[in-house]
Parts: sequence; C-alpha cells; structure tokens
Amino acid sequence: MAKPVLVAIDDEAEFTKTIQQFFNNRGYEVHVAVTGTDGLELVELHRPRVVLVDLKLPGIHGDELLQQVRQRHPDTRVIVITAYNDGGKTRDRLLALGAFAHFDKPLSSLRDLTSMIQRALSTVPSD
Ligand SMILES: [Mg+2]
Repeated sequence: MAKPVLVAIDDEAEFTKTIQQFFNNRGYEVHVAVTGTDGLELVELHRPRVVLVDLKLPGIHGDELLQQVRQRHPDTRVIVITAYNDGGKTRDRLLALGAFAHFDKPLSSLRDLTSMIQRALSTVPSD
C-alpha cells in the first residue's frame, strides 16, 4: 500500500521538523513548508490526503490556504493548528470554511493529532 501523504505548513521550522520526523517514523510521506506560498506548491506537487496548516503564515495566510485547497482538491482534508485563544471563534470560522479539524497550539501531545489524521484519512476516497 502506498504511504499516506501529508503536507505540513508552519512558519516555525522546529514544529514542521518535529511533525516530519514523527510521521515519517510512522509510515507517512511528509513534505513541509514554512510559508503558505511554498505550502501550496507542495500541495499541487504531492497531492496529499491531509494538510496540516498553521493559521498565521507569511505569504498566503492559513485562511486563504484552507479555502484554496478546499476549492482545488475537495478530497484533501485540512487540519488547522493555531495558537489563537479566542473562545472558539477562530475554530468555528475555520470549520465553517471547510477545515476537517482544528487544534490549539501548543499541542499537548502528537497522539491526538495522529488519531485525527487517521480519522481524516478514513474519510478520503482512496486513489
Ligand atoms: Mg505561525
């Protein structure tokens, strides 16, 4: 079976590195970018099943990126990871824009994210 492909976009290189190592070790093919523009290119190039995206990004903002991915690749699931603490306002807006899920930063563990990615993958029609 082909490895599930993930793209992670976050301007904190430390974070994307952690994600890359963690999911590489668990059988995923992971591509990472630190700007929205590069991230979108990776999405076009690798056609990931799941995209992890930070909201606050240089280049294309996370909101815009989410909408573009949803428009161009409706089968790709987008999980947004943000440091916003506004009582769920941001979360509701992102979910309304088509995000599959939303996580607050800092992530307490990668376990919840892993199960959410697995859930997202189970909803994606296989190629
Ligand atoms: Mg950021």
